[in-house]
Amino acid sequence: MSIDGGRALVIATRSRHKLAELHELLTLERARLMTLDEVGCLEEAVEEAPSFRGNAVAKACFYASCGRAATLADDSGLEVDALDGAPGVRSRRYAGSQATDVQNNQRLLAELDGLPPERRAARYRCVLAFTDPDLPAADGRPLVVTRSGVFEGRIALRPRGAGGFGYDPLFEPLDEPPGGRTVGQLSAAEKNRVSHRARAARAMGRYLRSAGY
Ligand code: IMP
Repeated sequence: MSIDGGRALVIATRSRHKLAELHELLTLERARLMTLDEVGCLEEAVEEAPSFRGNAVAKACFYASCGRAATLADDSGLEVDALDGAPGVRSRRYAGSQATDVQNNQRLLAELDGLPPERRAARYRCVLAFTDPDLPAADGRPLVVTRSGVFEGRIALRPRGAGGFGYDPLFEPLDEPPGGRTVGQLSAAEKNRVSHRARAARAMGRYLRSAGY
């Protein structure tokens, strides 16, 4: 599909903010990015896989068939070593299905109560998945390309900073000393240089440009 001279690429989100962020990070040359609403896809994909990759692939395939167009989907979250990788794929609903960011952060602090900085290692992880319904399928399954990004750090003893979202007020990048700046205290540009999503998006951007987007 090609619209207005650009190749249509659906970003599996309803958020214009996420669309704008990915637009900046992917730096595509010939693509026209569209949201799910713009292609008239009203249904919601189920996110029940046990891994970020599984969820990103499931979302890309679901929305590509719903919008009948090449689609890029993402899944991301936080893994904490002392919690055996939790909250993981449940990051958004760690403190309950309707939990707010503040409630999720409070639960995380409670789970880690009493642990010193050296036992609070954590990382953000992001997986991007791309599929195109017009590409030949392998073994009857759609061809899906994935790229991932990791952002290493540790969980602070208390929240600091009002920037970003989610667990950012609690996440200290590894190159900060314990008690140093959290991601909530970084500018958007600083976060975009090192974040899991930025790393995955830059890698996916390289693939998509090579594929003509
Ligand atoms: P989603 O992939 O956009 O659904 O994000 C899943 C959840 O992971 C978010 O709701 C946040 O709780 C957490 N998360 C993912 N990326 C970030 C980030 O960059 N900062 C803070 N929290 C994040």
